[in-house]
Amino acid sequence: MSYVIVEKCLGERYAVCATVCPVECIHPIQHQGQEFMIIDPEVCISCGLCLPECPVGAIIASEEEDPAYAKINKELTPQCKDAPPAPERPKNDPPKRPGNKLVN
Ligand code: SF4
Ligand code: SF4
Repeated sequence: MSYVIVEKCLGERYAVCATVCPVECIHPIQHQGQEFMIIDPEVCISCGLCLPECPVGAIIASEEEDPAYAKINKELTPQCKDAPPAPERPKNDPPKRPGNKLVN
């Protein structure tokens, strides 16, 4: 079982989630031409620290909640697991993605 980053992260990438992950399993990538992050399902220990950090609520606690994005996180992992960390955006920076709201 792994936490999963879902569509709300597309075009946002605040990256604060990656700074709290104790096992460094959150990685930046371009997806559908936009900035995105994924969680490596093989390394995630489901500690839950990242979920409340995401300003737009783009992290979910189980693969069952969004199987399509769980698949995307898994499939993109090999391409970005060695990528350098993404720069962090301030948590109060207004969301860029239409429909996203600051929730944390
Ligand atoms: S904090 Fe949320 S929006 Fe930012 S990179 Fe992590 S999952 Fe994406
Ligand atoms: S649940 Fe824990 S181990 Fe998994 S991505 Fe979030 S912070 Fe990292």
